[in-house]
Parts: sequence; structure tokens; C-alpha cells
Amino acid sequence: MLNYAELAEKNKRYVWHPFTQMKEYIEDDPVIIDSGDGRKLRDVRGNEYWDGVSSIWLNVHGHRVPELDQAIRDQLDKIAHSTLLGMANVPAILLAEKLIQLMPPGLAKVFYSDSGATSVEIAIKMAFQYWQHKGQPQKQRFITMKDAYHGDTIGAVSVGAIDIYRHTYSNLLFSPIHVPYPYVYRSPVEGDEQEQTTFFLAELEKTLQAHHHETAALIIEPIVQGASGIIVMPEGYLKGVRELCSKYNVLMIADEVATGFGRTGRLFACNHEKVTPDILTAGKGLTGGYLPVAITVTTDDIYEAFLGDYEEQKTFFHGHSYTGNQLGCAVAIANLDLMEKKNLVHDVEQKSIYMANRLQKFRQLSHVGDIRQKGFMIGLELVVDRDTKEAYEWSERIGVQVCRRAKDLGMLIRPLGNVVVFMPPLASTTEELESMLDILYQSIQEVTES
Ligand SMILES: *Cc1c(COP(=O)(O)O)cnc(C)c1O
Repeated sequence: MLNYAELAEKNKRYVWHPFTQMKEYIEDDPVIIDSGDGRKLRDVRGNEYWDGVSSIWLNVHGHRVPELDQAIRDQLDKIAHSTLLGMANVPAILLAEKLIQLMPPGLAKVFYSDSGATSVEIAIKMAFQYWQHKGQPQKQRFITMKDAYHGDTIGAVSVGAIDIYRHTYSNLLFSPIHVPYPYVYRSPVEGDEQEQTTFFLAELEKTLQAHHHETAALIIEPIVQGASGIIVMPEGYLKGVRELCSKYNVLMIADEVATGFGRTGRLFACNHEKVTPDILTAGKGLTGGYLPVAITVTTDDIYEAFLGDYEEQKTFFHGHSYTGNQLGCAVAIANLDLMEKKNLVHDVEQKSIYMANRLQKFRQLSHVGDIRQKGFMIGLELVVDRDTKEAYEWSERIGVQVCRRAKDLGMLIRPLGNVVVFMPPLASTTEELESMLDILYQSIQEVTES
């Protein structure tokens, strides 16, 4: 094999990395992963690291899981891929059946794609076309939450609302209607959780009153808004959103790409409030972090609106080359089977209570302003001053500094601005979580208190 220096040189010469300022990146020594095992990653120089953000929010059981590896090998002995355009395949059928059994009740049909962003594109196009078939073609707009993130393709960026990812492309995008997300830590109003919920639902209702006649759908990251900084919504808000969408005849799209498959301590975040959206998107954890498969799941009502004679052209004209890929579907089935067998979602709930206790200690750190957690999604918002909640200047890159220190101490994590994100693989043991949290604590302490 090539040595580290040779690989680093080729990496610098040929690879353009996502969400990365390359000018800076190529000055640094890159981490080049060679292998992984359980909750750890190993680089080509032999350093080991905890996978502290589950390889960007994907990983479930860990790396090189025998059951998942075997599922791919078994499928490979049959076929790697054939198209889902007009023909079917065994793992795609069996996975769809399994998913519908697990989904919030009322969701009935699975449309496959290959990334979170594509699952959102599909949801947008489905919702838009649905109203045309229903004889209400004026319902064309979307409502989205302030600071939402739904992926990086043009439609997904259109309904996204994080300014730095969006403003450059604004002329390419359609314009959704924005409503404030219930970000309690920096809420414009005082009050307990219930008062926050009431306030933010009233804000949404005002928007719906003004725009429902022209609105196809509302899209929301249920329970936890991820990329904006792991922001957990107050209790009752999601249920309220569902009720308002029904009242104003607007479809509800729940983007569970980050929250789905156990991440928040329920199989789906919608389950926390017994909500069934009209469309649910998911990806990330679906294959256990192995292969790119995503899904857009919807109700019979939406599916049936697309049925008609061939000439009517009610067909949903959408698909990707690898839609329904067999290797991906096979490993997704194995992932879900293993989750059930190990009662993993229940474990996540139990261990997140342990973590919540453990996180109390972080309140001793004078620059930790807010500690947010739902299940295995954790965000620590760092502030200059806890009393005034004064934010660090963007240019200080406090989050980046903490993550650099964590890497030196043996854990790979990635920040969201001033929020340090911790999202360990769902199967991490209590001892492993303990070690990871120790590194997290030490990194924040050394960087913010030095
Ligand atoms: C990550 C994410 C996406 C995009 O998924 P990709 O697989 O990266 O395209 C969409 N929505 C949410 C909520 C996400 O967290």
C-alpha cells in the first residue's frame, strides 16, 4: 500500500472535499481513514479515534458489523443492482414492507432514492404535483422553518434556510415562506415550555391564515432541528404543527433524515408526539451507515392522486439510476433486523438518560451556554458570556478549535458554528460513551478556559 505521505499528496492533488475550504485544508495533515471497527475509526498511520458524530450522523451499530457485512456479501452473490424503473427486486420489496410496518400509522408507500437531499426533492415534487391532480393548482408554495436544513440540491436548498448555505444561490432557488422555529434558548418571548409552544404555534397559524390557499406543504425537521445547531423543540409543538396543517389543508412533510431510525430515542421522531405526516423522508441511519439509500414515504391519499390513465400524464416523473439498489436495501433490512433483535431503540432511550446525567457536569464549564439533547443527538452551544448569552464571533471558530483538540485526544467530531455536536453511534456502550464524553469535556475546557 502507498504510505501516508503519498496518499496525502494524492488527496491534495485530486480530491475536492465537501463543505471544506480547500485552501486551508491542504495546509493541514489530513486524517486518512484506513479501517474501522465497532465505534472506532483507524487512519493509515495507525491512529485510532472514536467516531463521535457517527460519520456525520449515519452510523448505528458501529463499523464492520458481522450481520451487516454478511447481508451485503449474500446479496452480492446474487446481484448488485438492477433498475427499479418498471421492474422490481427482492430486497426493495421486502424492505418496503418492513418499513411500512415500522412507520407511523397511515404511511403506506415507499419511494426510494439515494440521499437525504433526493428524498426531500421527491417530497417537494410529490406535494407540488399532488395539488395539481387534486384540482388546486394554485397551491404551489412551501412553508419552511427558519434555519432549516434539508440537503444541498437546488430544491432542498430552496426549502433550506441557513443563510451561508443559501445566499450565493438565491437566484437559482424558489422562495418558501419562513416561520420561526421554536428555538427556546434564544426565544423572543419569555415563558416556560408550554408558553413557548403556544407562542410559536400562534406565529405559524398567522402564516397559515395568510398563505394556506397558495401553499402546497410545510416542511419541518421533527423534534430536533439538526444542522442549525441541534435545536430541540418544546413539547407539544410538533403535534400542534400537525393539527394546523390539517386545519388549513396544507400537507405536512417531516424530514426525518437526521432523526429517523432511533436517533432521538424513538424509531422516528414523529413518534414522540404520535404524529403522522403526509410525507416522511429518511436516509442517514437507514442502512446503518453502510450504503446510500433514502426513502420518501407517503399516504395512500397522495399515492392515489397520481393514479390515472396513461394519457392523463399523472405519472410521477422522477427516479435515479440507483433507485432501489439491492445491496443497499439488503443491508437496510439487516440493519433494521439487528436493531429489533437488540432492542436498540429502547437502549438508546435508556442510555440517553445516562448521558443527560453525565452532561449535567458540563454546566460547570463557564462557556457552555446551552445543553441540548434528544436521545443520541447532543449539541452544546458555546457562548462568550453565559449570563448575556453573547455569541462567539464567527471568525473565532470556537467550535472548530474544540473539534481539533478532540481529534488530538482521540475522537473525531464536527461542529456547527459555535455548537459542538456529539452524535455517537447508537450501539455505543456506556463505557464507550463515558470515554467519549470525557474527551468532549476536556476539549471544551481546554479550548474555552485557556
Ligand atoms: C443530512 C440531512 C439531509 C441531507 O441528507 P444527505 O444524505 O446529506 O443528502 C436532509 N435533511 C436533514 C434533516 C439532514 O440532517
